[in-house]
Amino acid sequence: MTQKKCCGGLGFKDLRLFNVNQAMLARQAWCLIHSPDSLCARIVKAKYFPRGNLVDTAFCSKASATWQSIMYGLELLKQGIIWRVGNGTQIRIWRDPWIPRELSLKVTSRQGRCHLRWVSELLDIDGRGWDLNKLPQIFNLADAEEIAKIKIPTRAKDDFIAWHAEKNGMFSVRSAYNLALKIKLGQGVQASSSAPTGERKLWQRVWSGHVPSKVNVFIWKLAKDILPTRRAKFIRRLEPSDTCPLCDRETETSYHATVTCPRAQGLRIAIREYWQLPDEEQFRYTGPDWLLLLLDQCSDTERDLTKLLLWKTWSVHNHITHQTGPTSISEAVHGLLSMQATLVEILSSGGDANGKGKAPCSWSG
Ligand SMILES: [Zn+2]
Repeated sequence: MTQKKCCGGLGFKDLRLFNVNQAMLARQAWCLIHSPDSLCARIVKAKYFPRGNLVDTAFCSKASATWQSIMYGLELLKQGIIWRVGNGTQIRIWRDPWIPRELSLKVTSRQGRCHLRWVSELLDIDGRGWDLNKLPQIFNLADAEEIAKIKIPTRAKDDFIAWHAEKNGMFSVRSAYNLALKIKLGQGVQASSSAPTGERKLWQRVWSGHVPSKVNVFIWKLAKDILPTRRAKFIRRLEPSDTCPLCDRETETSYHATVTCPRAQGLRIAIREYWQLPDEEQFRYTGPDWLLLLLDQCSDTERDLTKLLLWKTWSVHNHITHQTGPTSISEAVHGLLSMQATLVEILSSGGDANGKGKAPCSWSG
C-alpha cells in the first residue's frame, strides 16, 4: 500500500485525511472557476488575478491564508481539469490540458517551428470541425488521432473547463480524493523503482531499530514533514496564526516543535544527563532532509534514543497545546527512562519492542 517503507512511504496506510482535505479545498477552487460571476469569485479575481484566469495565475508566497489554502486545492484541481473545445479561442494548443484520454491530457508532440497557438486555428474554415489535413502535419499520430475524435459543437460555443474524472464533467470531492490518492500512488511507484540506493538506506533508518512501531510511524511523519503543526494548519486555514503557542516567538514547524522550541531544548538537555545522544551540532537544520541526515549519523543506540526523544518532545508539545496530559520536563524524562527500561527488558528476554519475533538487544542504557 502506497510507497514502500524504504522509499519513504508509510507502508500500510495512505494519508487519508490529507487527501480529503486537499479534495475539499479543490472544490473551493473549482467554485471560483465554475461560478465566476459569484460575488466571492469576483472579489478574489479582482484582487489576485485581474487579468488572465485562475488556472494560469502564479501567486506570491506572501498571499493570505485564505488564498494559500485555495492554492493548495488548486494544485490538485489542475491535475484533473480539462478544457472542452467550443470555438477553441481560449485554449492554448501546447500548454493546456484539452485532449480527453487516460495518459497526458496535453499534447505530446513537439511544437518545433509550428507557429499556431490556439486550438481555434486547428478548425476548418467555418469552425464546425477539425482541419483533418492539418492535424497529421502538426502532431504525432497518437495526438492527431485523439484530437480528431473530439467533437466540435454544432452551434458556436465558448470553450469551458470541465472535471476530467467525472463523466458529466462536474467536480466531485470523491473523485478529487481518488485522484489525490492516485497521484500519490503514482509517485510511490516511481520512487520505489528509482530511489537511489543511498536514499533507500536513509529511509531504512526510519523504520529500523528497536523502538515501538508507534514511534517509528511518528518519525516517518516527522521526516515527511506531515505532522499537524500550526504552520500546516495555518496554510490549510484551520488556524488563524502559525506562531508556536509555547514560545510565541517562531513559526511552529515540525522542526521547531521537536528541536528548537525552548521546551524541546529543555527536555533534550535534561535527558542528556542519562542518555548518550548525538551532539547538538547534529540537530541543526540542514534542509528538508534534516532528520534523515541526523539519523544516518547516529550509532544504532543513539538512533533509537533520538527517536524516542523526538517522539516524546512532540507529545509533550501537544499536551501543552491541547492541555491533554503531563507537561513537565521531569515527567517527560521519567517517561522516557521507563520506556527505555521496558524496552531493555523486552529485548533481553528475546522479544522485540512490538512483542513479536526476535531481535538482538541494543538497549544497553
Ligand atoms: Zn516554540
